[in-house]
Amino acid sequence: MSREGLVKADYIWLDGAQPTQQLRSKVKVVPYSGSVTLSTFEDWGFDGSSTFQASGTDSDLTLHPVCFYPDPVRGDGSYLVMCEVLTPDNKPHVSNSRSVLRQALESGGLAQDPWAGFEQEYTFFKDARPLGWPQQGFPEPQGPFYCSVGSTVAYGRDIVAEHLDLCLKAGLLIYGTNAEVMPGQWEFQIGYRGVAGEDASILKMADETWIARYLLKLIAERNGVQVSFDVKPVKGDWNGAGMHTNFSTKATRDPKTGMKAIETAIALLSKRHTEHIAKYGANNGDRLTGHHETCSIHEFRSGIANRGCSIRIPRTVAEKGYGYFEDRRPGANANPYDVAFMLVTSVINTL
Ligand code: ADP
Ligand code: MN
Ligand code: MN
Ligand code: MN
Repeated sequence: MSREGLVKADYIWLDGAQPTQQLRSKVKVVPYSGSVTLSTFEDWGFDGSSTFQASGTDSDLTLHPVCFYPDPVRGDGSYLVMCEVLTPDNKPHVSNSRSVLRQALESGGLAQDPWAGFEQEYTFFKDARPLGWPQQGFPEPQGPFYCSVGSTVAYGRDIVAEHLDLCLKAGLLIYGTNAEVMPGQWEFQIGYRGVAGEDASILKMADETWIARYLLKLIAERNGVQVSFDVKPVKGDWNGAGMHTNFSTKATRDPKTGMKAIETAIALLSKRHTEHIAKYGANNGDRLTGHHETCSIHEFRSGIANRGCSIRIPRTVAEKGYGYFEDRRPGANANPYDVAFMLVTSVINTL
């Protein structure tokens, strides 16, 4: 039976802000008939001069839908539509970091079927302080807050729980959440969940990390708190916020070649440390100090189960002899498309 009617489509894109691109969106009421598919959402325009993407005299840019999810906030008949930004001649705009990753995958990367899992850390703020921090002074030193329970140590859990439900409703591959080492700081993960048939390919996981960030901001907005992806939201003896990126390829996942492929990948990454750091988020040197579970930004180190490394091989992976590795360098404000591009091109396309 064919249906028709109207749906609400929230077109989402990345702006041209430097050094950190930000999310933008606007809603369009779209007619559909039959079922809702990607082609239901036609290209649309926006004012690039208001998003750091064009000049006022030549401002029209194109939003080109690339994937969509049911909108769990606005409910039935509403969709979140991820877009790439194109110039008037339908070429990727210079800010279109997704197209750069897509092209790297199409020109060789896909042969190794790269998967990813992004661990997104973030900090809630209210009244210019991290959520739950006292009006004056500081909370007690770090120690009791990571994965904590109880109102004296965990701040913001209702929003975190609501966000998890929203991500599930949208069909994102959300893997889990946890309270972090610094009070008011939390993490969610998007990525491979060990479920057969789930597509955890790296471009899709980068898209879904952006959608999950979007949902987090939306739900925090409704709760009157801010979300910060700053890599060092509080200076001093407080943990920074990262976006650890877990990465695997056909070869690292294969029991016959796994550990060797992981070692080869690490050797390749060690040669391009500076290039990676340049794409791993603004002010990341404030976070990668060699303290607070990080390796100094000036060094490249790898190790098993070692959280003071650039690249960590999880103990379970080392024991099994195959699987994935974790790049601990990306900051919480890094662009998942950029991080994915660096991993794909350093580890796969160069082979
Ligand atoms: P950590 O111990 O570093 O805190 P988490 O439990 O927070 O790690 O997250 C583990 C991440 O690893 C998840 O994002 C998950 O999707 C990802 N992951 C698991 N297996 C793979 C794999 N084979 N390839 C890529 N990512 C993976
Ligand atoms: Mn984690
Ligand atoms: Mn963490
Ligand atoms: Mn981690």
